[in-house]
Amino acid sequence: MPTILIVEDEETLREQLSQNLTIEGYDILTAADGQEGLDMARAEQPDLIVLDLMLPRLDGLSVCRMIRRDSQVPIIMLSARGMEMDKITGLETGADDYVVKPFGMGELLARVKANLRREASQVAARNPTVIESDDLKIDLIARRSWLNDVEQHLTQKEFGLLVELMRNKGVVLSRDLLLAQVWGDDYIGNSHTVDVHIRWLREKIEENPSKPTRITTVRGVGYRFEH
Ligand code: CA
Repeated sequence: MPTILIVEDEETLREQLSQNLTIEGYDILTAADGQEGLDMARAEQPDLIVLDLMLPRLDGLSVCRMIRRDSQVPIIMLSARGMEMDKITGLETGADDYVVKPFGMGELLARVKANLRREASQVAARNPTVIESDDLKIDLIARRSWLNDVEQHLTQKEFGLLVELMRNKGVVLSRDLLLAQVWGDDYIGNSHTVDVHIRWLREKIEENPSKPTRITTVRGVGYRFEH
């Protein structure tokens, strides 16, 4: 289950939030001031943060800004009525959502779920499991590939090379880099190994393997995935 960090100085509210979120199945971390919250966010890398605005030692907006320097974790800000909420959720601080005090637990739980769901779909979008280019398609999880809807049976190395190349469409990748990514840093071999496997890969995905258009050779540099 996701871990949620609650940063709230009012003990009663902190306990109430903690209990309610625990009942929902989340793992809970708590901090009673801004500095402790910031330290905990950095050390524990929670999946979501419920952050009070008015906090001792370091206020919620500063905590939010500092977390945003190196993390995209969803942050739900808790605030007293009357604050200018558009500033809180604006680009400057980077909070994802806010709840105005006093609030019902049902409302907060709904926000927590919505923000976790949104984050999960964004992570999935940043890390696609299927890559397509023209009539070529690869599934990174199933480790399968199709050309024109016909499955191509690639070896592990051919598949690994195709993944690296497709992920870096339009960019030249050196033989050494491909060797390190596909064979691993500890592989003792030379770059001709890459050439051999590229040749085999071309026979499976190029219309004319002797005049490749998908994976082109950049002389003296390496290989580039074109389309
Ligand atoms: Ca407070």
